Amino acid sequence: MESYGNTAIKHYNVLAFNKDDGFKINKPSAFLQNRKTMLNNIDIYDDGVLYYIMIKHLSQLNMLIGHGGVDESIERIERHLKQVFKERAILYRISFNEFGILFSECPGSLKQEAERIRTIVSTLDNTHTLKTHIGVIPFNRTIDSSEEIVRKGYIATTLHKLSSGPQAFHFYDEKKWGELEKRLTIEKSLRNAVKLGEMYVVFQPIIHPTTQQIGFEALIRWNSESHGHVSPAEFIPIAEGNGAIHEITKFVMKSVACQLNTHPVIDYISVNLSSKLFDDPEWFSELNKELGGIQPQRVQFELTESFLIDTSHFHFIRRLQDRGHKIYIDDFGTGYSSISYLLSLGVEGGKLDQFFTNYIEQPKYTSFIKKTVEMAQSLNLNIVIEGIENVKQKEYFISLGCDAYQGYLEARPMSAGALAQYVTEI
Ligand code: C2E
Ligand code: CA
Ligand code: CA
Repeated sequence: MESYGNTAIKHYNVLAFNKDDGFKINKPSAFLQNRKTMLNNIDIYDDGVLYYIMIKHLSQLNMLIGHGGVDESIERIERHLKQVFKERAILYRISFNEFGILFSECPGSLKQEAERIRTIVSTLDNTHTLKTHIGVIPFNRTIDSSEEIVRKGYIATTLHKLSSGPQAFHFYDEKKWGELEKRLTIEKSLRNAVKLGEMYVVFQPIIHPTTQQIGFEALIRWNSESHGHVSPAEFIPIAEGNGAIHEITKFVMKSVACQLNTHPVIDYISVNLSSKLFDDPEWFSELNKELGGIQPQRVQFELTESFLIDTSHFHFIRRLQDRGHKIYIDDFGTGYSSISYLLSLGVEGGKLDQFFTNYIEQPKYTSFIKKTVEMAQSLNLNIVIEGIENVKQKEYFISLGCDAYQGYLEARPMSAGALAQYVTEI
C-alpha cells in the first residue's frame, strides 16, 4: 500500500465525493459507482479494516430536511472523519443509508475506532442523532476478495442490527449468520405452513392411574417442504414472533375438536397456549368458534409460568376459567411462581418439567421434587409428571402420589389414526 500512499487515497476520495457523481446525486447509479470505487480501493490494499455502516431512519430524516440537507450532513460527517482520522480513512456511500469507511491499516483498537465512528456518524448535525449499525471487518486481501470483504461487512452490520446488546459494533460471524438465515427462511415458510397442509397434530396420552381418565396432550408438528421436520421447540418461538402462532393454535383447536367429536370416550385433550395469543383481543371469538360445540371441561389449557409474570394475562386466564376450562401450569418448577400464588389464580395443577424426571436419583433434586409434590397435594393442586421413560421413574412418582403421568414409556405422541386405534384398545 505504501507505494500508492496518500495519492491513491486522495484520488479515490475525490472520486467518492465527486460533486457530479457522488452524494449530490441521490441516484442508485451514483451509489453503485461509489461501491465500485470502494471495491477497487480494497483491491489495492494488502490489509486494512472496513467499517460497514447502516444509518437507521435516514429516509425519515430525508423527509424532514430533504435530500440536500441529508447530503450536507453527510459531507459534514466526512469532514469530521477527516479531522479525526486524517488520510487514514475514506468514506463511501454505497446505498441511500449504507456507508463504508475504509482504513488502509488496522487501527490500534478496533473497538475504540468503532466508538469514535459511531459518535461522529450518529450525530448527523447538531439537531439529529440517528442510530447506527456498524460491522467491522479487519481484512487481509490474500484471504478474501474485495467482494467477499464487502459481503462480510454487510453481514456483520446486519448482525449488529439484530443484536440487542450495547456493543458499538459486530464482527463478521458465519455461524451466527447461518442461524439467522435459517431463522429468516423458516419464518417465511411458517406463514403459509398451515395453508399448505404442512402442519398436523399428534396426541400423547396422559395416564391417570387412580381416576382412569382418558386424556391427551395435543402437540403440533410441521413437516415443511423446504426444511423437512422442524421441531416445535424451534418454530413456536418464531411463530410467536411473526404472528403465525394464531393460525397454528386455531388449527390445533380445530383438530382437537375433531378428535373429541369423533371419540366420545376421550375425557379431555390438553392444548398448549402461547401468551402472545392474548395480544389479540379477538382471540376469544376464535376460541368460541373452534370449540363452540365441545363441552369446555373436555379441553384443558397448558400455560407456561412465564405467562404469569405479566399480570395483564390474569384477566385472560380468568376468562378461560369462566368458560369452563381447566388450566395447568406447564414446565412447572422451572419458573418463579410460588404455589400459593398459583392457587390464588385457581389453576387446576402443574405439569412437572421432564428435566426433574431425569434426576430422581440425585438427592439434590429428589428433595425438591418431594417437597413440590407434597405442597401441591396439601393445596389440592394436581401434579402431572412429564417425560416418564422407564418403569423406575413411573413407580417413583406413583409412590409420591402424583395424579398423572405422560411419557414415552406409555406412548409417544401419536397421529390421529394411531389415536383411534389406541382408544379402542383401552
Ligand atoms: P411441552 O408442552 O413441555 O411438551 C412436552 C414435550 O415433551 C413434547 O415435545 C413431547 O413430545 C416431549 N415428550 C413427551 N414424552 C417424552 C418423554 O418421555 N421423553 C422425552 N425426552 N420427551 C417427551 P414436542 O412435541 O417436541 O414439543 C416441544 C414443545 O413445543 C412443547 O413442550 C411446547 O412447549 C411446544 N408446543 C408443542 N405443540 C405446541 C402447540 O400446539 N402450541 C404451543 N404454543 N406450543 C406447542
Ligand atoms: Ca405442554
Ligand atoms: Ca411441559
